[in-house]
Amino acid sequence: MDYSELAEVYEKLEKTPAKLEKTHIIAEILKKTEARELSMLVLLLCGRVFPAWSEFKLGVANQLMIKALARAYGPKETEINQKFTELGDLGLVAEEFARKRKQVTLLRKKLQLEDVFRNLQEIAKQTGPGSQDRKLALIAELLARAEPKEARYIVRTVLEELRVGVAEGIVRDAIASAFGIPAEEVEAAWSVRPDYSEIARIAKEEGERGLKKLKLQPGIPFQVLLAEKAPSLEDALKAFKRPVLEFKYDGARTLIHKKGDKIWIYTRRLEDVTSAFPDLVELAKKCIKAKEAILDSETIGINPKTGRPYPFQMLSTRIKRKYEIERMMKEIPIQTNLFDIVYLEGKCLFNLKLSERRKLLKQVVKVIPGKFQLAESLEEPELKKAEAFYKKALDAGHEGLIVKNLDAKYVPGRRVAGGWLKVKPTLENLDLVIIGATWGTGKRAGWLGSFILGCRDPDTGRFLECGMLGTGIKEKKTSPEDVTFADMTEMLKPYIERGKDGRVFIKPKIVIEVAYEEIQKSPEYSSGFALRFPRFVRLRPDKDPEEADTLERVKKLYELQRGRGQA
Ligand code: AMP
Repeated sequence: MDYSELAEVYEKLEKTPAKLEKTHIIAEILKKTEARELSMLVLLLCGRVFPAWSEFKLGVANQLMIKALARAYGPKETEINQKFTELGDLGLVAEEFARKRKQVTLLRKKLQLEDVFRNLQEIAKQTGPGSQDRKLALIAELLARAEPKEARYIVRTVLEELRVGVAEGIVRDAIASAFGIPAEEVEAAWSVRPDYSEIARIAKEEGERGLKKLKLQPGIPFQVLLAEKAPSLEDALKAFKRPVLEFKYDGARTLIHKKGDKIWIYTRRLEDVTSAFPDLVELAKKCIKAKEAILDSETIGINPKTGRPYPFQMLSTRIKRKYEIERMMKEIPIQTNLFDIVYLEGKCLFNLKLSERRKLLKQVVKVIPGKFQLAESLEEPELKKAEAFYKKALDAGHEGLIVKNLDAKYVPGRRVAGGWLKVKPTLENLDLVIIGATWGTGKRAGWLGSFILGCRDPDTGRFLECGMLGTGIKEKKTSPEDVTFADMTEMLKPYIERGKDGRVFIKPKIVIEVAYEEIQKSPEYSSGFALRFPRFVRLRPDKDPEEADTLERVKKLYELQRGRGQA
């Protein structure tokens, strides 16, 4: 298939916001595409060249793209930068320079879908010394061959900013409609084989029968059950006839797959982290009394000096580590807390009640206390006991509780009512000062798009970065109290001091109230802390920047959030 055909499809998708129409457009191209090219097409439609969980990422920054554009089309980087500021989208910049180029186009061989796909995969695989240069060469080579419209979408794909609005639900419905298969069947297949590029190919080649053959099996990750938020412990208890409470540990979700001597460990995002956890692999081999099983658990890091849980970031340094794993195992020993079993000796257990799965879990696991154990739980509690249990979890340094329904099935990949409800303390909002921002791109071009938050350091009078916020600010005003990106831009423009690469420094003048999920330690921000998932709540024109929350306050809240103090 010519890549230009896909570029046409992208353009159509970009033009229509209607879900049904998008589904129809995709279904049409799925029908037309040969099975051989189908997987590549589906990935590219989603703006990827590997499934979402793959360790390979394109990882190309704007600066490198600007260099690639200069090499492919000849203009100076300053000229490209200027155009970028004007258009706010390097895809459009590429399109314009591709159109202006003087080269004779007749001799160019048309770009094939497969050429683009393979080349992008190569880009993602480059690592180590010289990798930036190699990436640059690969991008420039593609761009030199591309028609203007093709260049627009190649650039956006490489930057991982495709923005044609193809969510996974749309791909599911398009596969269903293209090959005449009920959407629920496609979804069921996806929950045990979470890769629509593979599912589209099977649907085309083998139809519904082929999809039905896809079963949960050890060694292949699946979409895990997720939790919903409960407003309070009392509400959570009322939600189910037979609730069970469990500690909510703050670590990594670890899905432990066992088949004979082989163990795999997957995270909730389906990443294979087996090599990061040789200690867990050993424990799983020793303590799972079954030939084949898949267990669900949360693994936390334990501070060897205090015996208390480390915050998640400590464990995450272990997960990311590729070298010196032995040393990390000593510094950050783990504890795995098991709470579910979904596969046993060839059988999928999704349809059993949680109460039955818990029984099987107890039978299958040989517990090593403090290392490989069942999640601490309390069955069918009344409120008083539940409250005491909640306090016990927090006192022990855990995040809160998860309330589960003993009558519920394990529904993979969905936040289903009737499954798990999480209960954790909410943190008070912070009043912070905007000290920087980045210019938006695409739909938000011309507006400041995300805002750097600062807390006050009373000792120096400076404001220190503690997060980046884009959520909660509206694109359009739908009610009078809405604050839009245009409002923010107008308000902040007079205070812009200087800028570079689309990022600006802003005089600390404007205070806003910010909600967030959690505070983490962060070496990247000058305060040493980062708010996770910050959300704009409202402007605080009543507050001077000197009255904004201080570094001390952020630190206090960080320590308070789990009663566990510093790592
Ligand atoms: P959240 O990430 O806040 O949506 O909370 C859900 C996550 O809590 C799960 O994905 C698990 O990683 C984690 N978790 C910790 N303890 C448990 C538990 N006892 N049962 C289920 N999930 C747990």
